Amino acid sequence: MNHFNYKDNHLYCENIKVADIARKVGTPFYLYSHATLKQHFKVFDNAFSGIKHLTCFSVKANSSLAILRLFLNEGSGLDIVSGGELFRGLRAGVQGNKIVYSGVGKRIEDLEYAIKSGILMFNTESSQEIHTIDEVAGRLGKKARIAIRVNPDVDPQTHPYISTGLKENKFGIEINEAFNQYLVANRLPNLKVEGISCHIGSQLTSIRPFEDALVKVNKLFEDLKHAGIIIKYLDIGGGLGITYKDEKPPHPDKYALAIKKTLNNPDLTLITEPGRVIMGNAGVMITKVIYSKAAGEKLFYIMDAAMNDLMRPSLYDAFHAIQPVEIFHRKKVTADIVGPICESGDFFAKGREMEACQPQELMAIMSAGAYGFTMSSNYNSRTRPCEVMVKDNCFYIIRSRETYEDLIRGEIIPDFLEKP
Ligand SMILES: *Cc1c(COP(=O)(O)O)cnc(C)c1O
Repeated sequence: MNHFNYKDNHLYCENIKVADIARKVGTPFYLYSHATLKQHFKVFDNAFSGIKHLTCFSVKANSSLAILRLFLNEGSGLDIVSGGELFRGLRAGVQGNKIVYSGVGKRIEDLEYAIKSGILMFNTESSQEIHTIDEVAGRLGKKARIAIRVNPDVDPQTHPYISTGLKENKFGIEINEAFNQYLVANRLPNLKVEGISCHIGSQLTSIRPFEDALVKVNKLFEDLKHAGIIIKYLDIGGGLGITYKDEKPPHPDKYALAIKKTLNNPDLTLITEPGRVIMGNAGVMITKVIYSKAAGEKLFYIMDAAMNDLMRPSLYDAFHAIQPVEIFHRKKVTADIVGPICESGDFFAKGREMEACQPQELMAIMSAGAYGFTMSSNYNSRTRPCEVMVKDNCFYIIRSRETYEDLIRGEIIPDFLEKP
């Protein structure tokens, strides 16, 4: 069920007119539907019912405390990639033993913080990291559970920037090399070597690469068993795609079924790390047209949001549907929809056919819930937008719009630089 719908030519989020929210909070802003978030989490999590599993929401997709809290209340754990994300998770109320920690460059202070927080498992990505975790755990008088993140060398057939499971990518340890690393890690005194993890990329729209990776992981699992290393946690990462335009990704039920089929070990706990599939279509960004301008053949609509607010089009040339918040049934035009930042890369869409619009009208940039706000910056000294969650016919500001004072927080002019 879709919770962003038109009634009488007005876009609604659940049971509120989006235009009414915009009038109260200003633009641009991120808008999330509580019902959609909850439903997406449940659908994904329920897809794995019948086997021991833990769904660890990938915090980097959206790290708002309110959103993390919502998932935690549904039984979610968290997949984190930094000390900052650990801090957020703990603030939102996560239990330490429901956290998995991924990433190629975990710093010593972050390792200490995570071990002290009693996280479930580190997904380790290099030999040096494995040894460092052993040392840090030893120093703290603790044992750290680890998985080795293996790189299965399968092509996820997604954008090169979000592919992670190819040999040439920086992630994980090559699967043929992993067995030896397990033997080494298993001899280290302060580690519990109990997991295999594998995350091959993002926005995958077919099941095949997941299956190919899992077949290779299963083989490793068996080899380790014969070597006396008993794996208890299998972390298959995230990566299931969503529909931005006309992609037809598999339903989570189908994805889960394929995975359950290749797993035949009731003692194993399956860990998943979904991000985009839960968040992506549960959020939109609302922005206002400032000006339109014709330049030769071209028509530009200049919005009050920019690449600093939503970076995906600039970064990945990603497609986002853009829809009017109020439909006027005007003629169709072809336009570039751009932001005010001083970069040619500052665009949301190019050559997009759309209904003509006028200054001060509102637009919804769809499918912006994942990797939207979390990738935002203050470039051009733009204050970051507020985030709003709708529940039924009420809305809640879950992050205030930044102020100019926020922009300079922490900045210091040394005394020797006198006032001009
Ligand atoms: C980014 C990431 C995820 C989430 O990916 P999605 O495509 O958003 O599901 C999960 N695990 C790891 C290790 C990641 O880096």
